[in-house]
Amino acid sequence: MSSYKNIKKNLSIEEVYTCPVCYHGQISAITLMDAFSCNFCNHIFTADMARQSLKIADSSPALSWKWNGKKWKADHPQVEWNWAIQLLAVGFILLPTTLIGLSAYFFPPIPGTPLCWLPIFWTGLTFLSHLAIIVNIVIDYYQFPVKLYLKALVRNL
Ligand SMILES: [Zn+2]
Repeated sequence: MSSYKNIKKNLSIEEVYTCPVCYHGQISAITLMDAFSCNFCNHIFTADMARQSLKIADSSPALSWKWNGKKWKADHPQVEWNWAIQLLAVGFILLPTTLIGLSAYFFPPIPGTPLCWLPIFWTGLTFLSHLAIIVNIVIDYYQFPVKLYLKALVRNL
């Protein structure tokens, strides 16, 4: 193991790296091959020393990572989680909640009636359901490592 943590090092077939998929196991070279395998999630990666990159070999989509001397950087096309999308996500959660909340505010139920809790409950439900959709999209976006990580975790229990 190298102890010079702050020195940038080229990707080398002789070194051991943190797995870019599960961030838990370590990948080391498979004998006589330009390939690495993870001791935790068991994925196989082919290495491109010229490009200093790693590509997953036993799974699709064919994700790849670039070695920047210290850590892996995703090299596959990624949808940018930028401010416009964040704004849309926040709007998607807040707008319906606000509309329903406002209608509950302007047309309040008569206190003490059997269903007087419904508008508030409905507002909360709207918020939670829209939040759940956004959370789902986010998980979906990061799905690949999350899923594999959980799978590997279960396998190693
Ligand atoms: Zn792994």
